Amino acid sequence: MVDEKKAAEAVRLLLEAVGEDPDREGLKDTPGRVARMYTELLAGMDGDATEHLSRTFSSDADGIVLEKDIPFYSLCEHHMLPFYGRIHIAYIPDGKVVGLSKLARTVEVYAKRLQIQEQMTGQIADALMEGFSPQGVMVIAEAEHMCMTMRGIKKPGTRTVTVTCRGLFDGGTELQNRVMQMIKL
Ligand SMILES: [Zn+2]
Repeated sequence: MVDEKKAAEAVRLLLEAVGEDPDREGLKDTPGRVARMYTELLAGMDGDATEHLSRTFSSDADGIVLEKDIPFYSLCEHHMLPFYGRIHIAYIPDGKVVGLSKLARTVEVYAKRLQIQEQMTGQIADALMEGFSPQGVMVIAEAEHMCMTMRGIKKPGTRTVTVTCRGLFDGGTELQNRVMQMIKL
């Protein structure tokens, strides 16, 4: 849970530190507003992916299930600036499938926290493996990082892609290629 009172005090201090007057008209509600915003942006810290992923349906499907283009917004833990983009999740069921909205909910749990992209894809893949034991999982994230585009080396349009494979996808080049083909469709 975000301590909104403490966060608001910190924002007020930050405004002072950058040479602003936190009491001027336009800024007087900003500390409280920013504090409430962090409650929303970091809501995943209180989330539990296993809760979402335990709702499964029996199925004899054994082909690849792909949920693609799931949008996400996260904050990099190095600069607290947004990184955002799309996530694709592929899995091969082992007797059960999970509700499609639960995959997006799992993304929210791991995106809405201070994060690094490489770790996020791994956490999502592990949560799925533990949550409903599919035969394999592949998670691909493509994101633009504001800490690379609006500051530092300033390279807008640069996208970072991370991939994590578990189970049958781990070392299963043919399966991985099939997922890549399906993403392009
Ligand atoms: Zn960063």
